[in-house]
Amino acid sequence: MPGQNTTDLLIVGAGFGGLIMAIEARKRGIRDIVILEKADEVGGTWRENTYPGVACDVPSHLYSMASHPNPDWTTAYAGGGEIQAYIQRVAQDEGLYDLCRFKRTFKSAKWDGAQWQIDTEGGERWSAKVFVSALGPLHVPQIPALPGADSFLGPCFHSAQWDHDVDLTGKRVAVVGSGASVIQFVPEIAKTAGRVSVFQRSAPYVIPRPDGPISPIWRTLYRALPFTRQLRRQSIYHMMEMRHGVFMGKEKAVNFAMNLWRKGMERSITDPEMRNALTPDYRIGCKRILSSNAWYKALARDNVDLIPSGVARIDRTRVIAATGESIEADVLIWGTGFQVTDALERLDITGDGGHSLAETWKDGVSAHLGVSVAGFPNLFFLLGPNTGLGHNSVVLMIEAQVEHICRLLDQMKQSGTAAIEPLESAQADFAGEMSDRLSESVWQNGGCASWYQDASGHTPVLWPGTVGEYRKRMRAAGIEQYRPVEIEP
Ligand SMILES: Cc1cc2nc3c(=O)[nH]c(=O)nc-3n(C[C@H](O)[C@H](O)[C@H](O)COP(=O)(O)OP(=O)(O)OC[C@H]3O[C@@H](n4cnc5c(N)ncnc54)[C@H](O)[C@@H]3O)c2cc1C
Repeated sequence: MPGQNTTDLLIVGAGFGGLIMAIEARKRGIRDIVILEKADEVGGTWRENTYPGVACDVPSHLYSMASHPNPDWTTAYAGGGEIQAYIQRVAQDEGLYDLCRFKRTFKSAKWDGAQWQIDTEGGERWSAKVFVSALGPLHVPQIPALPGADSFLGPCFHSAQWDHDVDLTGKRVAVVGSGASVIQFVPEIAKTAGRVSVFQRSAPYVIPRPDGPISPIWRTLYRALPFTRQLRRQSIYHMMEMRHGVFMGKEKAVNFAMNLWRKGMERSITDPEMRNALTPDYRIGCKRILSSNAWYKALARDNVDLIPSGVARIDRTRVIAATGESIEADVLIWGTGFQVTDALERLDITGDGGHSLAETWKDGVSAHLGVSVAGFPNLFFLLGPNTGLGHNSVVLMIEAQVEHICRLLDQMKQSGTAAIEPLESAQADFAGEMSDRLSESVWQNGGCASWYQDASGHTPVLWPGTVGEYRKRMRAAGIEQYRPVEIEP
């Protein structure tokens, strides 16, 4: 096989997940690490998403690595460029660029009885004792296969593949979707575009947020007295955790969030028909709750139209709504999000005994504690099934997973165990618990269809509890929930 390489720990993906995994593994004494990354830079989400207005929706003092606090965030919710620069700085400071093999697209992985054989699209093969998938849950753009989409005559792109060569000044722009990215870029492009027409299939709940610059005085304080920065982080963490009550249908939390949303929306939108169109027809929390101080204001602008309907078809220069309304557009932007559940299902991974992951997951994706699957020794997922969040920073989930994986690797070393897989009983218990808890949640009973759900209406993406609960469980879970796998000589 040309270009055969070996390593102890192979990580795929150089976003938050892959980088945190490498940092923590090195702290535990693992030196032989390789990160395969299909792009030519670290950053993942924050390298890819460069659309105008891109920013995090969890305040930056929390949405960052615990091991690399940043006293210098310039805004409460940092823009994508600032987050990307932060990730690059961490990678530089930690010497992680030396571990990265860029422009290597993971193709497939096969357990050969002793280790993982991992192939890239370019024909490289890597042998690794431990394989960590940090491919990212929101990575593969979702573009609906609409009739006539190919006939559109003007520029056309997805928000995660923004074409910065297209000047939108004075143009008629059709935007398909009204999700997390759309509510960030529409207020920005509306400032210069001739007309922006937003096709909204389903109205989101968009609540105001405590955004704004962080003054140099605060930043100096955070640098000089780190406990002040830590206090800020802790208070954001607890505030975010409180939002979990909305998803559990806790009356006080639901009323509070509904009030925030209604007041924010009605402050900017006075037309009753428009208010009606912007009122979601499902319970708050069923879909991701979005936050912005600019979305409703943008919709109130004279050059922005809301078309409360999905798109039925596209005909050269016209975008035609399901209601029959038709608009002329020079540019078409897909704000239609990402493939989430099916991206995992499509991974070409073959475990012990030649079983494929796709076959194992044919009735739905699931992993023990969201990180490991019986029959797939020494394979760990970051942000795998049931570990996404609707209310807090997923970096906290990644950190809990990395700590758990590192503890397992330590315990394997101490006990001289070469390979482990989760106990089937532990995995089945966890899957049953997730299914029971999620079936009670607003995500499944809130009266909406969302990207949280798979084709059968289940929610394999989300963790039903608080981050605090997940951290506690991950800390408590050790090698006793796993079994050794015999290695072939
Ligand atoms: C616009 C946007 C805003 C967001 N804001 C927030 C927020 O405020 N708070 C929050 O908690 N979460 C947010 N998220 C979710 C976000 O994805 C995570 O917070 C986090 O960045 C995930 O990190 P990751 O490393 O798991 O995945 P990613 O950042 O997606 O990184 C995965 C990496 O894997 C690489 N890769 C993928 N496939 C392959 C392959 N086949 N071969 C090799 N490499 C591959 C990718 O190129 C990428 O570099 C946001 C997501 C988006 C899209």
